[in-house]
Amino acid sequence: MSSEPNSIDVWEAFLDPQGEFSLPDFSAVTPASLIAAVRAATDFARSEVEDIIADENDPTFVSTTVRFESATIPMARIAAVVSSVESNHFRPELADSVAEVWDRLSAARTRIFLDVDLFHRIEQVPSTDLNPEDKRQQELTVEEFVRAGARLGAEERDQMSTIAAELTTLGTSFSRALQKDTRELAVHLDDKAQLAGLSEDQVAAAANRAAERGTDGYLLPLNNFTQQLVLESLESAATRKQVLDNSTSRGARGGEGDTRTQVADTTALRALQAKLLGYPSYSSFAIDNQTAGGPDAAADIVSSLIAPANAQLAEELAQVKDHYGLTDVAPEDVKHRLAQYRAEKFDIDADEVAKYFEFDTVLNEGVFRAATGLYGVTFAPRETVSAWHEDVRTFEVTDANERTLGLILLDPYSRDTKRGGAWMGELVTSSRLTGHLPVVTLSLNLAKPGEGRPTLLNPTELNTLFHEFGHVLHGLFANSTYPSTAGTAVPRDYVEFPSQLNEMWRFHPQVLPHYAKHVETGEPMPESLVTALIDSEKFGQGFDTTEYLAAAMLDLSWHSLEAGEHITDVLSFESEVLAAAGFTDLVPPRYRTTYFGHIFASGYAAGYYSYLYSEVIAAWVSEWFEAQGGLNREAGDAFREAILAPGYSIDPMSAIERFFGTRPDVAPLLRRRGLAEPVEESAPAEEPAEEPTEVGAAEPKGHRNHAAVSQVLEANGIEPQIRLFTDATPTAASAAEKVGVEVGAIANSLIFSAEGEPVLIMTSGRHRVDTDFVAGLIGLSSLDRADKDLVRTATGQVIGGVAPCGHPQPIPTYVDVALKDYPVLWAAAGTPNSMMPLTYEQLLAITGGKEITVVEEGAEA
Ligand SMILES: [Zn+2]
Repeated sequence: MSSEPNSIDVWEAFLDPQGEFSLPDFSAVTPASLIAAVRAATDFARSEVEDIIADENDPTFVSTTVRFESATIPMARIAAVVSSVESNHFRPELADSVAEVWDRLSAARTRIFLDVDLFHRIEQVPSTDLNPEDKRQQELTVEEFVRAGARLGAEERDQMSTIAAELTTLGTSFSRALQKDTRELAVHLDDKAQLAGLSEDQVAAAANRAAERGTDGYLLPLNNFTQQLVLESLESAATRKQVLDNSTSRGARGGEGDTRTQVADTTALRALQAKLLGYPSYSSFAIDNQTAGGPDAAADIVSSLIAPANAQLAEELAQVKDHYGLTDVAPEDVKHRLAQYRAEKFDIDADEVAKYFEFDTVLNEGVFRAATGLYGVTFAPRETVSAWHEDVRTFEVTDANERTLGLILLDPYSRDTKRGGAWMGELVTSSRLTGHLPVVTLSLNLAKPGEGRPTLLNPTELNTLFHEFGHVLHGLFANSTYPSTAGTAVPRDYVEFPSQLNEMWRFHPQVLPHYAKHVETGEPMPESLVTALIDSEKFGQGFDTTEYLAAAMLDLSWHSLEAGEHITDVLSFESEVLAAAGFTDLVPPRYRTTYFGHIFASGYAAGYYSYLYSEVIAAWVSEWFEAQGGLNREAGDAFREAILAPGYSIDPMSAIERFFGTRPDVAPLLRRRGLAEPVEESAPAEEPAEEPTEVGAAEPKGHRNHAAVSQVLEANGIEPQIRLFTDATPTAASAAEKVGVEVGAIANSLIFSAEGEPVLIMTSGRHRVDTDFVAGLIGLSSLDRADKDLVRTATGQVIGGVAPCGHPQPIPTYVDVALKDYPVLWAAAGTPNSMMPLTYEQLLAITGGKEITVVEEGAEA
C-alpha cells in the first residue's frame, strides 16, 4: 500500500513472515521493497556461506549441509513472492525491479554453486551415520554443486562460466530473431473472401491487426506452434497453404529473423559444456538426474510410440478421406479436415456442454469431492489473509485426522496483468526444517462473467482444473524435512505425473454425476453427451501424438551431438532425423527446429519428452486406481504416503517400483490416448483382476519384455499365450491360485549369483533351492541369491517378473526335474503381472537348460 519502502521490514514482510501460515504481505510489494528483500536474502546467504567456510570445526551434516539449505531459504521465499506477483498480477511499475530480482538471484546462485571452498566443506561431510532422508539430502546437495561445475579445475570453471554467458546471449538472440520473423510472417490478406470460415469476430480482429500495422486488408498473426488455430476453420485451401507455409518457414528464411546460426552454436556449446562435465552429450547430462535416467530411455519411449501414433493417424485420415470422398490430403488440410470431421461426427454443442460445467459446482462437487473420496481431505472457504488481488479465494484444507494441512489460494479469472494459461505455485513450501505448512496457489484464466452470472467451463478448462489440482495436492501432501525436496520439487519428467493422473477423475462415473448438472435445470448430463465428449477427445490423438513425438525426437537428436560437432545445415539435419525415425511429411513437428523456443530459449533442452514420460506413469497408475475400485480411500491413502508425500526426498522411480511391485509400461498410455485397441476391457470395479486376457503374438504393442519373451517362444515354434493380470503375483502360491493349478506347477525363474555371474534355476513352486547342494552339483564354489541389480542387468526384468527367456544375453540355465511331474507349467512372462503356460519340453527348449535336482534326496517338503 503506501508504506515507505524503508519503513517496512522485508524480513517480516517476505523473507520470514510470522503468523498462522507465514504468508508474505502482498500489500508491501513495491519496487523498492522487492529490491531490498532480494538484497537481504542474497546477503544473508553470502554471510552464512562465509561462516560455513570459516567454521574451524570438522564439517558435520547439521553445521554444513543443513545450514547451507537454511541459508538459501530466504532466496527461495523472495523468488516465490516475485513469481506470484509476476505471473498473476504484473504491473508495469514492477517490471524493472522484478527483472533485477531474477538477475540478482541467478548471479548469487552461480557464485554459490561455483564456490570451491564451500563445496569442499560440503563434500567432506561424513554421511555414513545419516538416516536415509539426510543421506539423500547430502547426496543431492553435492550433486547440485557437481552439475554446476564445482568439481572442475579453475580453468574449466572459467570455461563453464564463459559458455553459460554465451548460451544466455544465444538464447536471447534466438528469441529476438524468432519474435521478429513470427511478426513478419503474419499472413497478410487483401480480400475478405480469403478469410471465409472465420467468425465475424475473428475477421474484425484480423482487420484491426492490419490497421495497427498501418496497412489495409487483414492480418492473421501466427501462434507459437506449427499448426495454426485458424487452419481448423479457414475454408480456402490456398489461404491454409499460405498460413502453414509461413508458420513452418519461421527462422529459416535468411536475414535477421533467421535462427539457424543460433541453433548450430547453441547445440555445439551445450555439447562442449556436457563434455567439460564428463558427459558424452548434452542430453546425457540433462537427463542424468531425471526420472528417465538417460537419453536412451527417453528416446525409447518416444520411439516406441511412433508406430502406434502413425497407425492411428492413418486411421483418422482414412476416415476423413472416406467421409469427404478425397483421394489425398495435403499437409495444410490435415488439421482442417480433422476438425471438420470431428465436429460433424460427434455433433457437440459447445455452449450447451459448458452449461453442465459450472465452476463452483465443478470445484466443490467434482475436484474437492474426488480428493475427499481418495485422501479424506476436506476444503473450507475462509477469509483471504494476504493475496496479490481481490479475486483470490482462500480455502483451508483439513486432513482426515482433522489437523489443518495447509491453504489453497485460488485465482480463477483472467486479467490484463496475468499471464496466459493455468498453473500451480508454492507460496510457502512446507518442510519440517522450517515448520511451515504449505500454501499453494492455483491460477486459471477463466473469463470473468458479468455480475450475477455463472462461470462456465469448456471441456479444456475442466481438464485444466483437474490437472492443476493434481499439482496442488502434490504440494499440499508434501512431507519432507528439507524444502528443496518437498512435494513438487521432483524431476521435470516426473512432475506432471500427479497432475495428469488427477485428470482421470473428471469423467469418472464416481465423480462426474455429482458435478455435471445443468446450470439452469439441475438435470444431470445425458449419458450420450458424456460418451460423445470422451470419444471426441480421443479422435485426433494420432495426429496430436505424431506431431508431439516428432518435436520430442528433434530435441533429443539435437542434444545428442558430441563435443566438436557443429551442424550448420540445420534443415538437412532435421529432415534426416525425422525421416530416420519414420515420421511422415504430412504432419510437421509441433515445433520445427528453427522456431523451437522450448529448447533454444527456455528450459526444455533435452526435456521436451518429459510431458510424455510423465503421462506414461500417469496412465499406468490410473489403471491401478481403477483396479482398486476407483475412489478408494485405502488405495488413496497408501498412494499418498508412498508416492506423493515424499516428493524428492526419496528416489521417485524406486518408490514407484516398491509400491507397485513393478515399473510402468507404455500400454496404458496407448489406451489413454486411444492409440491401440485396449488389450483388455477395463475391468469393472466389482470384479477386478481375476479375469486374465490372452495377448497373442499379433499384438506387438504390449510391454517390451513380453515382446522379447514372445520372440523366443516363436523362434521355438511355440505360440505365445501371455496372460496379463491387473495385479502382481509375487509368490508361487498366489500365482498358482490365480491360474488354478498346484503350486508345484509354477516354474519360478530364480536368478542366483555365482561370484557375480548370473545363473538361472527354473524351480518348481514346491521347492526351495538348496544352494550348497546345487553349487556342488554343477561344480561351483558358491551360489547366492542375486540382488535386484544383478537380476535387472542379467534379465532386463524385475524380481517377481523374471521370465525363463527374453533376456539381453543368454544365461546359463538349470531346470528342476520336479517340473516334469506337471503336464502344464506356468512361468512369469517378463513382468510381475504376467504369466504364460508351457510344457516341460518347451521350457527346456526355450532355455536350453540342463535338468537338475535342486534339493537333496529326502529333503523334499
Ligand atoms: Zn502440469
